[in-house]
Amino acid sequence: GRKFFVGGNWKCNGTTEEVKKIVSTLNDAQVPSSDVVEVVVSPPYVFLPLVKSSLRPDFHVAAQNCWVKKGGAFTGEVSAEMLVNLGIPWVILGHSERRSLLNESNELVGDKVAYALSQGLKVIACVGETLEQREAGSTTEVVAAQTKAIAARVSNWADVVLAYEPVWAIGTGKVASPAQAQEVHFELRKWLHANTSPEVAATTRIIYGGSVNGANCKELAAKPDVDGFLVGGASLKPEFIDIIKSAE
Ligand code: 13P
Repeated sequence: GRKFFVGGNWKCNGTTEEVKKIVSTLNDAQVPSSDVVEVVVSPPYVFLPLVKSSLRPDFHVAAQNCWVKKGGAFTGEVSAEMLVNLGIPWVILGHSERRSLLNESNELVGDKVAYALSQGLKVIACVGETLEQREAGSTTEVVAAQTKAIAARVSNWADVVLAYEPVWAIGTGKVASPAQAQEVHFELRKWLHANTSPEVAATTRIIYGGSVNGANCKELAAKPDVDGFLVGGASLKPEFIDIIKSAE
């Protein structure tokens, strides 16, 4: 089976004091064992060393982005090699906030995923449609095109978690219904089956993100193709622990 995966995307939030507090809450929490659930938290770059050195060893750390190729004269960027050098195992790539606010194209995201994997990072790759695209009936087409740009550049899917995050559900309190999430996850798995391999389709975790909280996670987690969550706002709060517990 696919091990349940819960990611906490802290986005551009936190002070040193707040970060210490979140880490201490996580460190004290009683959660299912790492055989049952893989937990990865993603603080802003500047807090990665602090979180990496203070977080319990059964939880892992992800960066929220990285540069598309080898480091060099790219002011303001952080390279995949640097994350590896710091012992950061994971990176989130293609988050919708970066796709929309920073104009990251499907191709750029695919290139970033490929480069990060080539350096030994594991990747949480994000896809998802806007409200306009959903209302136009093009959800499947949009997420397939986003996934295709990744699949065209990637062969080792073992180190990839695919995050389905409908843009209209992110930070809005408008969570996708379990049926809506299941439908897109099923379509994504079908796409992987047809375009990568049956094995990749069967083993790749497809996680849901968008207004997940302690109250709605159980029902979503019960869906057969929902293999976990990528949590934004609620990952900064103690209810993140309830979301981790939805693994069992
Ligand atoms: P929210 O959980 O705040 O809606 O954010 C979801 C998200 O974007 C996680 O990457």
